Amino acid sequence: MSSSNFEDLSLDLQTEIVARVASTSLADYFNMKKSCKKIRYLAEEGFVYGKVCLEKIPIDAWYSSNGRISLFINQCLENENPEALFRQAMVEYFCWGEIETATEYVNSAAVLDHHGAAYLLGLMLLFHGEEYKYDGIKMLSTVKKSSCFNGSVPTYRKLLIELLRKTKIQNLDVLYYRPSCCDDRVFHGYCDACFCDFELSYIFNALDRC
Ligand SMILES: [Zn+2]
Repeated sequence: MSSSNFEDLSLDLQTEIVARVASTSLADYFNMKKSCKKIRYLAEEGFVYGKVCLEKIPIDAWYSSNGRISLFINQCLENENPEALFRQAMVEYFCWGEIETATEYVNSAAVLDHHGAAYLLGLMLLFHGEEYKYDGIKMLSTVKKSSCFNGSVPTYRKLLIELLRKTKIQNLDVLYYRPSCCDDRVFHGYCDACFCDFELSYIFNALDRC
């Protein structure tokens, strides 16, 4: 990036460019901040925190971190970074058992079109008890049929398993309730409820190994 050409652009456009770089790579975001004072200033804008790519940060940083990482995550949350909100929802729900707070975070992530939000909400509904089972199945089957299923869901499932293995889970529903969605006594092929049981089995396996 030539600094003279960059300086000629409007401030909005400069911020947009910095945000685009930040949204593709966290490493590039931090390298860019070292390049000059002006870019460092732009990189601290709330708009940029809302876009920065967080994939490379381990999920347990949302569970226990301090100093600069914690400050950075908080800035991302305050500026409604969808991935930060989604991860905070997972930690609030599974680790702390803070269902209301988790619901607020996951809903905020959903409003911002985070692809993992419906997946997490579906799982939360299944763990919420028998009366929410149908809603959970419906939500997860929508996720299964969506175009992002093959790309995003394995990523979020992996993230969730990582969280379950690396942190202390204190949500009593998750620890002691084992929802079951399909009646597999009758052979019927592979239904939406079977799919939910399949997704839940990943969680149960991860919990059993803790
Ligand atoms: Zn079934």
